[in-house]
Amino acid sequence: MIITTEGIVLRQHRIAGNRRMIVIFTRQYGKISAGTSINEKSRSRSALALRPFTFAEYEVFKGRDSYSINTASARRSYYSIGEDIDRFMTASAFIEYLDKVTSDGEPMPALYDLALEFLDSISRAAKSAETLLFAFIVRSLPILGVSPELDYCVNCGKPVRTPEGSKEAKNDFRSFSVTSGGVLCDECANKEKTEGAALIYQPFFDIIDVFRYFRSKPISTFEKAVLRDDVTATVRKILAEYTDRYLDADVLSKPTELEV
Ligand SMILES: [Zn+2]
Repeated sequence: MIITTEGIVLRQHRIAGNRRMIVIFTRQYGKISAGTSINEKSRSRSALALRPFTFAEYEVFKGRDSYSINTASARRSYYSIGEDIDRFMTASAFIEYLDKVTSDGEPMPALYDLALEFLDSISRAAKSAETLLFAFIVRSLPILGVSPELDYCVNCGKPVRTPEGSKEAKNDFRSFSVTSGGVLCDECANKEKTEGAALIYQPFFDIIDVFRYFRSKPISTFEKAVLRDDVTATVRKILAEYTDRYLDADVLSKPTELEV
């Protein structure tokens, strides 16, 4: 059977017979591994479609338990990602994250669309590419079924009042617990800390507002955003621990490797 699908290349490796195995996150079929003999070093449109940070359309032969790429055609290539080390490292971490949170043959169109939104944004980003990755990860969590609780204390269920009220209205919410998966009211945070619970963060800034802001805005909102270094470091640490604990997909706390 011949299928047509659009997708993003996650990785590739050589296989026997001068062929390559390409792992593609497709919109319609989820992650698939497809063999191809297209020479990626050539200058054809098909070759371009096999390179990293490219969004392309693939015509694929689907066998009983394998896929084979017939033709590929690049729709958009995000060249500018490779022109800046900061963008490149961040986009590589993004690809690694996508690879870790997706499973073979499981379509996730909402995550796919969000991934294209991220690639569009990072290819234009003026600064702090990592902020875009934070936004992508926060937005991906509900799609992956591991949304942090940001509206109620995860321990006692007390609501975090919305910012429409006064500033003081949510002043007794200052903590985020990775272990419990969301925000804690001060009373519960103090109690859990006394009992020795780990991974509770009580940053100097409003962590709930930061996460809510990431959660509610398009990724493009953050193209020109510059977070303070200490805010960046704390958000990175929390998201690293959170994605490690709930998705086994931490890409923020170590340098990433991508074969290009
Ligand atoms: Zn509580």
